[in-house]
Amino acid sequence: MRVLISGAAGFLGSHLSDLLLADGARVVGVDNFVTGRPENIAHLRNHPRFELIRHDVTEPLKIDGAIDQIFHLASPASPVAYDKMRIATMKVNSQGTWNLLDLAVEKNARFLVASTSEIYGDPAVHPQREEYWGNVNPIGLRSMYEEAKRFSEACTMAYHRERQADTRIIRIFNTYGPRMGLKDGRVITNFIRQAVNHEPMTVFGDGTQTRSLCYVSDLVRGIRAVMEADFHEPINLGNPEDVTIVQLARDILSLVPGTRSRIDFQPSPAYDPRLRKPDLSRARQILSWTPVVSRKEGLEQVVKYYLEANQPK
Ligand code: NAD
Ligand code: UDP
Repeated sequence: MRVLISGAAGFLGSHLSDLLLADGARVVGVDNFVTGRPENIAHLRNHPRFELIRHDVTEPLKIDGAIDQIFHLASPASPVAYDKMRIATMKVNSQGTWNLLDLAVEKNARFLVASTSEIYGDPAVHPQREEYWGNVNPIGLRSMYEEAKRFSEACTMAYHRERQADTRIIRIFNTYGPRMGLKDGRVITNFIRQAVNHEPMTVFGDGTQTRSLCYVSDLVRGIRAVMEADFHEPINLGNPEDVTIVQLARDILSLVPGTRSRIDFQPSPAYDPRLRKPDLSRARQILSWTPVVSRKEGLEQVVKYYLEANQPK
């Protein structure tokens, strides 16, 4: 089995690489390092079944030899990152998806695209089922991500329907764990960094907005299960236990010994979705997969990782 992972130097891509290498696969990682970090895959440098290609997937990609599966994970993923890279975000989820679908057709490989809960926008339905089409402003301040991911899904279905490409679509809900960029602006890493550095913990708005948070080991098992299943419509992956952001701040404060941080309410960013929680009925039925890591366990793990790595600054 030889697989290609775009975005392999990113948070999820590096964990997926580890999982598939442990299964015995050969992994070709492709990344241009716009948000990924060499440290995420440094431990794979001398791995006999891992190779890294530094490449921007919005440019056509030539790969020698067979490829059995393509996981398209490349894309800026945090609001802070895609805010800085609006056009690159649109390109990697349009031309990038297109190029990798062409490669999948050429290699007769299975193709999986990482879409997102953001395609539901600010949802009018809660929890979100795959049948819900979403509530997205096409010119809103998050549209470069939301609409690009919606296009990416549409492009994937077009290749499936017209070229018989063997495709899969996952909609990932907020996921966290070791190797997230500490400064990429996502809530968990912001709170950990702030708590460790005794800085004000920035809770946006009144903190009553909710998110459901999935630990990375659960998520990558889910990604692998989707690739193995014979199902072509989108599947939600995440953890259904939701929490308010202010409670999350309190949880993290309680895990960092001796912190002098205090919660500091800040204005809400534009178009911040109020609610986010996956309906996992489809995943449970089709994949027999369910997340098993509780919020308590996951937060303990990730705080421990950043404390041991002594990374926060
Ligand atoms: P990440 O930023 O850590 O990783 C993305 C990787 O893609 C980085 O290594 C980056 O350098 C690479 N990349 C970006 N543009 C590229 C290009 N044009 N060519 C080659 N490589 C490129 O983000 P992540 O959290 O690992 O997210 C991975 C995927 O999962 C993304 O598609 C994201 O939209 C999706 N997703 C993630 C979450 C989450 O909570 N982590 C939630 C929903 C969806
Ligand atoms: N958030 C916050 N403080 C921060 C960073 C984020 O209160 O320092 C909030 C943000 O407004 C949102 C939630 O946490 O309501 C999740 O934000 P994140 O950027 O992690 O992900 P997304 O908005 O894409 O779900």
